[in-house]
Amino acid sequence: MIYTLPPLPYAWDALEPRISQETIEYHYGKHLQTYIDNLNDLIPGTPYEDMPLEGIVVSASGPVFNNAAQVWNHVFFFNTLSPAKKDMPLELKDYLIRDFGSVETFKEEFRKAAVSLFGSGWVWLAQDPEGRLHIIKESNAGNPLCRGLKPLMVMDVWEHAYYIDYRNRRAAFVDSCWDLIDWDIVTQRLDEPLPVEVSETVVIAEADRDAVTEAMAEAIIEDEADMQRYVCITCGWVYDPVEGDPEGGIAPGTPFSEIPEGWTCPACGVGKEYFEPER
Ligand code: MN
Repeated sequence: MIYTLPPLPYAWDALEPRISQETIEYHYGKHLQTYIDNLNDLIPGTPYEDMPLEGIVVSASGPVFNNAAQVWNHVFFFNTLSPAKKDMPLELKDYLIRDFGSVETFKEEFRKAAVSLFGSGWVWLAQDPEGRLHIIKESNAGNPLCRGLKPLMVMDVWEHAYYIDYRNRRAAFVDSCWDLIDWDIVTQRLDEPLPVEVSETVVIAEADRDAVTEAMAEAIIEDEADMQRYVCITCGWVYDPVEGDPEGGIAPGTPFSEIPEGWTCPACGVGKEYFEPER
């Protein structure tokens, strides 16, 4: 699958003065385009090649995850904005009042999360499987889909989102964004299913594969650690786990770590603490 820049649902200057055309040219026209180009370079010949974007986001790691999630997050972000100031539908208000106490409290908590997020990232309003709403801070390319939560709304708090228009004033950018949020779209998302069903099997398979690989890597490291020889730093005698120290009561095959305290060097009589791994 070749990804292309999706059309913006409004003109490039439509969000002015809150978000300038110049910011859109860089943020949408260059940053998002670069993530799309990177993703197109990374996935050919991998299991991600024909996977829906959500599937890649929830199952990939490293550069594939970073670029796929940045594509998903940005498209979602730009689609959450509208040049027409929208009133918040009652249905969404009811959810916010139930889960945050009031719409104002929700906005305050969201703002606090956006301002305090360290470094680059995204602040989300997301819905859990029981229907409850949560404010989620994610660093870098983080996306609530990876936690099984459905994204409803997001603010991009990477510096590239606000530096041209607001310089270092992230809080001013966040405050300015409220009037750009398309609350109709956010409300619509409440009733939509989690957009990852298609790839659930892939996700599980991938998770299992990762778990297996991790367990194997750990076992190998453990085996290597078990076979580590230790040298007595006072006399130079070497403890080899293959041979153990049968005369000292240590059976062959005993890793150094499992030798009981109280055991002493058969050559010079010092304790375990005088041994160090042989290099
Ligand atoms: Mn961005």
